[in-house]
Amino acid sequence: MKAYFTSIGEKPFRATQVIKWLHQMNASSVDQMTNISKPLRQFLSEHAVIRAPAIIMDQQSADGTHKWLLRLDDGNAIETVFIPEDDRGTLCVSSQVGCALDCTFCSTARQGFNRNLTTAEIIGQLWVAKRTLQADPKGARVISNVVMMGMGEPLLNFDNVVDALKLMMDDNAYGLSKRRVTLSTSGVLPALERLAETMDVSLAVSLHAPNDEVRDQLVPLNRKYPIQELLAGCRRFLAKKTTERNHITWEYVMLEGVNDQDEHARQLAKLLQGIPSKINLIPFNPFPETRYKRSSNNRIHRFRDILVEAGYTVITRKTRGDDIDAACGQLAGKVNDKSRREIHFARIEQG
Ligand code: SAH
Repeated sequence: MKAYFTSIGEKPFRATQVIKWLHQMNASSVDQMTNISKPLRQFLSEHAVIRAPAIIMDQQSADGTHKWLLRLDDGNAIETVFIPEDDRGTLCVSSQVGCALDCTFCSTARQGFNRNLTTAEIIGQLWVAKRTLQADPKGARVISNVVMMGMGEPLLNFDNVVDALKLMMDDNAYGLSKRRVTLSTSGVLPALERLAETMDVSLAVSLHAPNDEVRDQLVPLNRKYPIQELLAGCRRFLAKKTTERNHITWEYVMLEGVNDQDEHARQLAKLLQGIPSKINLIPFNPFPETRYKRSSNNRIHRFRDILVEAGYTVITRKTRGDDIDAACGQLAGKVNDKSRREIHFARIEQG
């Protein structure tokens, strides 16, 4: 933005002013930006638009979870979810229209892949959610945390996601601390290496299995980047130690009879030895025509106990918003041309 203002012969600090207007003062037109000269406002209104994705649907779950279906300019639609808790409010943000990775237990995968979201479309989700939550008649809620855990694989949309993350953390925009912004990935290794060089953010990794045999079935990307390579990449990520990188959160979906046995828990405990870790068990959220079932509560407890005995911090993720299909893995949106998965996946293949 600074470069843009410089290029039109303006002072770079205009960027800070405009960013504050957009993201903190809720401006929806250039005319509201009163500390900017009239001629510049005129110029900007001729050359730029302020428009967020339109809300097609705004559903609220019995547990207070909000899910927005947002329409993009090209007719595709994505989903964004707000999860209120006592001590925080987490926004779950999408990074792509659909997803190319084809994880067998995820409903977004079945939508196919259409395209990457732009930086504006990613940050636009915060913009819309923040305004809606501020205006909630039941009481304003604040977005204190962001997780890049909506539709898509954020590391396959690297540049746009990084720019959006920087805005989330910018004191002139959303000012979220790095600890409160989490990127979740299935493990796109080269992009993870790039991320380590580029910025600090909390990292969650969708592991879901303690060995390659099971992970190959669940996360096809594992055939490209098997577990040992992934773990090595994660160790390198942690080696650049900062407070945000003092551990990795491992996501592990609990699928009955597939990855939830005592033996799997013991393997997992061994696998992660020596890596500062938190383990996040996610009860599987079903969707139509899935072949998987959620592990029983007893099984999840037993699995957790084995990990806790081995010294790990384990959190069983509460299922939120499943009555409105807003829970993990249930986001579907509306993906127009789903056929581009092969092209996108080919790009991963090329490394
Ligand atoms: N592509 C990224 C971001 C998605 S995050 C990633 O894979 O990490 C969404 C999380 O929910 C991931 O851990 C994903 O594996 C998990 N998930 C997907 N489908 C699920 C389902 N049906 N039930 C529970 N968790 C699911």
